[in-house]
Order: sequence, then C-alpha cells, then structure tokens
Amino acid sequence: MSAPATPLLRHVPERTCVACRRKRPQPEFRRVSKVDGTWKLLTGPRSGRGAYVCADSPSCWQDKRLRRAFGAAAPALSALLLTTPQPAGPLQEH
Ligand SMILES: [Zn+2]
Repeated sequence: MSAPATPLLRHVPERTCVACRRKRPQPEFRRVSKVDGTWKLLTGPRSGRGAYVCADSPSCWQDKRLRRAFGAAAPALSALLLTTPQPAGPLQEH
C-alpha cells in the first residue's frame, strides 16, 4: 500500500437533460449542437450551442419531449437521435 490515495475523485461535470431535466454526469448524455442553424449530433470537440439528452433513454428522444428545448427542430432532431447509432462506449449494450 505505497501508492498515495487520491484525495478527490476526478471531477465530472454534470449536465441536465433537456427532455426529462435529470442531472447526470456528462458522459451519460448524447450531445447535440447547433451548427450553421441546424441541430446535429456531435461526439467530437464541442462547438456551437450545445444541449444534452440522456444517452440511454429513448423516451427522452421523442419530439414532444424535445419540443420545449428545440421547438420546430424537435421532430428532425428526434429522428436523428432515433436513427443514429450511439458511439461505442461504456453505456453501449448488446
Ligand atoms: Zn433525459
């Protein structure tokens, strides 16, 4: 037991789902960003305006739940979330 204990857990920023308003660690979300006036699913570096929806909760991807945050763009974004596979990661299940 010679390794020093880490006094603090690595800080994980919390975000709020725009559909269900749950607060969760950022890695548990899918991030959408507005790029050139269009909402897109992005996994790379953050850019533009961002919003977060639960990565593991398809009920949060329904357009009626997204409408509050995205308005007229909600149906298109809902379709995007439902048809775009999630990137590989610890949340992915088979
Ligand atoms: Zn949610």
